[in-house]
Amino acid sequence: MKHKLSERQLSAYVDNELSESDMQSVRTHVEGCAQCQQQVQVLRAIRMSIRDAASVVLPDTFVYSVQRAVRQQEQEYVIWLGPERFARNIVVALCVIVFALVAVGSYLTPQPVVGEERYFSGEPSDSAAHAVIGIQHELSKDDVMIAALSR
Ligand SMILES: [Zn+2]
Repeated sequence: MKHKLSERQLSAYVDNELSESDMQSVRTHVEGCAQCQQQVQVLRAIRMSIRDAASVVLPDTFVYSVQRAVRQQEQEYVIWLGPERFARNIVVALCVIVFALVAVGSYLTPQPVVGEERYFSGEPSDSAAHAVIGIQHELSKDDVMIAALSR
């Protein structure tokens, strides 16, 4: 047998995962090889510490303390939600106000009326057309055509 066994072989040996004949040959080698013996001790120590870590016994109150911590977290979340909800309401209110202002503003802004001033420059030739359509507040397309033709 070669001097050094692979770590995989030694690991399988420590875990009793080798066949009976392989177990026997590895055991024979390890007993006569300080280097492999040390490796086996390291592997056994690692397994022991893993087993110790896995067998931690939780206190009886563990479940309750977890539940209490979760409940506390939920309460903090609800408290935190308060200002968040308030801020959301303010944003909604501001949106409504801006919308209302825009609506009222466009309602109050006078729409440009097509008036006679736009078509008459005060010249004497305008007077006939002015007499015809001047009394109207708004001009239709036909009025404008008549005014243009009668100049
Ligand atoms: Zn060896």
